[in-house]
Amino acid sequence: MLLETSALVIGGGPAGATAARFLSGAGVDTLLVERDCSYVKPCGGGIPSGGFNEFHLPQNLIKKKIGRIIIVSPGDRRIEINLKGGHLYITERGVFDQALRSLATQNGASLVEGEFTGFEKAGGAFLSSVRRKDDGEEISVKSKYIIASDGITFSAGKNCAFKQPRHLYTISATMRRFDGDACEFWFGNSHASNYYSWIFPSNESASIGTGSSNPKELPGLLDNFITRKFGSNMESLSRNNEIDRPKVFPVPCWRGGPYSHGNVLFLGDAAGMVMPTTYEGIYYAMKSGQFAATAIIEGRPDNYRRMLEERFKYRFLVMSLFRRLFFRSDRTIEKWIRIHEYSAVQEIAC
Ligand SMILES: Cc1cc2nc3c(=O)[nH]c(=O)nc-3n(C[C@H](O)[C@H](O)[C@H](O)COP(=O)(O)OP(=O)(O)OC[C@H]3O[C@@H](n4cnc5c(N)ncnc54)[C@H](O)[C@@H]3O)c2cc1C
Repeated sequence: MLLETSALVIGGGPAGATAARFLSGAGVDTLLVERDCSYVKPCGGGIPSGGFNEFHLPQNLIKKKIGRIIIVSPGDRRIEINLKGGHLYITERGVFDQALRSLATQNGASLVEGEFTGFEKAGGAFLSSVRRKDDGEEISVKSKYIIASDGITFSAGKNCAFKQPRHLYTISATMRRFDGDACEFWFGNSHASNYYSWIFPSNESASIGTGSSNPKELPGLLDNFITRKFGSNMESLSRNNEIDRPKVFPVPCWRGGPYSHGNVLFLGDAAGMVMPTTYEGIYYAMKSGQFAATAIIEGRPDNYRRMLEERFKYRFLVMSLFRRLFFRSDRTIEKWIRIHEYSAVQEIAC
């Protein structure tokens, strides 16, 4: 079967679904391909309220509104920050991504559940292969643009022979019973290296996890964090059915792209758009979707990179520098956290 469209969007996460929403909303013929519409990405699901509201997203996607953040240093220095002028909204990623895809299809985008497996150039267009999920049929899709929003799979990037952005790794699980109203960020090399350990409460449950550049050490780090935070361990929480099975998942390290290759545009995690130090990526994925769509609607795909850089490059560079300076040892992290005691810094950082 051969389908023809103007924009083929690969991946229906926050980046791809948002690009499809804006493209189809402007009347651009758009085909969104998501390999598994029931997929739930391992994620804390936290989005600043300002970013959430900017996209006019349905309020029923908010599982919890967080107004307070707790930061705990390696040496047990504890800082509580009341968020001023907004909240951190906690969403459930499976539901959130589905809702974003619905906004795209309501605007007229077509949605195919299937896996993109590669593309080749065909004159001035692209000919992509997609394997449909329900019957395994191979579909060919001819398109003028390819939106590569397939997250860390980076399949279109590999097709362009691009080097994938480097990764850090996370391990996370859902605690089935958790009573708390603050997002907690815990620092310390014994349970998080180059990263932090977190607790993001949702409705009576919480996402708990930690990160490292070495995936092999993750289970031990999570165990150490559970011991530090709860005085318990993974085994006993699992035995009492208090926690899900943990999942390991990579998080890209921002390196300034790749953003585009002719009419192939890279978005969200596929472009490494995750903020160094905080490791938040949902808002930046949605913004990259909006910018990519705008560039295509205006017939200037080369403007996409400029829009991203004008808006975010400086912030990403500064946070990247902070990460290199401070996320090195418990001693340097202790300094990083001390800075957050100043309310002026809290206002910039939170
Ligand atoms: C444990 C963890 C916690 C996190 N917590 C937060 C947080 O609280 N707040 C925050 O802002 N960020 C968080 N992040 C980062 C955030 O999850 C990502 O930055 C964000 O999901 C990126 O969106 P995306 O659309 O670029 O990619 P994704 O969300 O990964 O979406 C990619 C989509 O493409 C699909 N796909 C992949 N390959 C193909 C293919 N070949 N064909 C078709 N479809 C394909 C996938 O199924 C997926 O649906 C977290 C990350 C991790 C790992």
